[in-house]
Amino acid sequence: MKIVILLGAPGSGKGTVAGQLTTADAALRHVSSGDLLRDAVRRGTPAGKEADGYMKAGKLVPDTIIAQMIADLIGGIQDSNTVLLLDGFPRNVAQAETLDGILKKVNSEISSVVLLEVPDAVIVERIAGRRSCPKCGAGYHVKFLPPKQEGICDACGGELVTRKDDNPETVQNRLDVYREQTFPLVEFYGSRVKKVDGLGQVEEVAARVKKVLD
Ligand code: AMP
Repeated sequence: MKIVILLGAPGSGKGTVAGQLTTADAALRHVSSGDLLRDAVRRGTPAGKEADGYMKAGKLVPDTIIAQMIADLIGGIQDSNTVLLLDGFPRNVAQAETLDGILKKVNSEISSVVLLEVPDAVIVERIAGRRSCPKCGAGYHVKFLPPKQEGICDACGGELVTRKDDNPETVQNRLDVYREQTFPLVEFYGSRVKKVDGLGQVEEVAARVKKVLD
């Protein structure tokens, strides 16, 4: 198993790029910690009930909750050819250390760390137009990646929604949390970090990311 870590601010396009890459390569699997948590909230699991309030406020959920989900997921992967695109985890240095421990247990290690770079003004515009499908998790943007039929998911016909934590106030909290807790991971991973320009069409950005993957 190979592990690729996608770093970048909320709205930098990690999920969109990961989605693009996975459709082009069956060995790649997109793992979004936010999607795992949103699913747990929807299903009303104990972890989901605990995570809900933190997510609504734009704060990080306690490390143990998300670390357990990631450990379970990685532990359950049988196919050694799988390449995991980790989007949203790790989110702070403690989680990065936990991830190292999880990977040691399964005899695997991080193969690439990619940082998607996007200016703040673009991030705000991107988040404002973001829509997603609650049924299958597909992501869209009203301007940059519109569905064929307005408000309807191309993939499964589900009705698209705006995420509860994409309102301006919560977005500001999420950007602050990114700067304070997640950005230090760039230093933590040091020379392993490949910086990629996150501006442009999804296909272009995905191609740039693909080029830097080991
Ligand atoms: P995302 O979809 O990655 O923007 O995540 C949405 C929300 O889920 C975040 O604002 C956090 O509340 C929570 N979340 C996602 N990933 C993590 C993580 N690795 N650690 C803690 N909280 C997380």
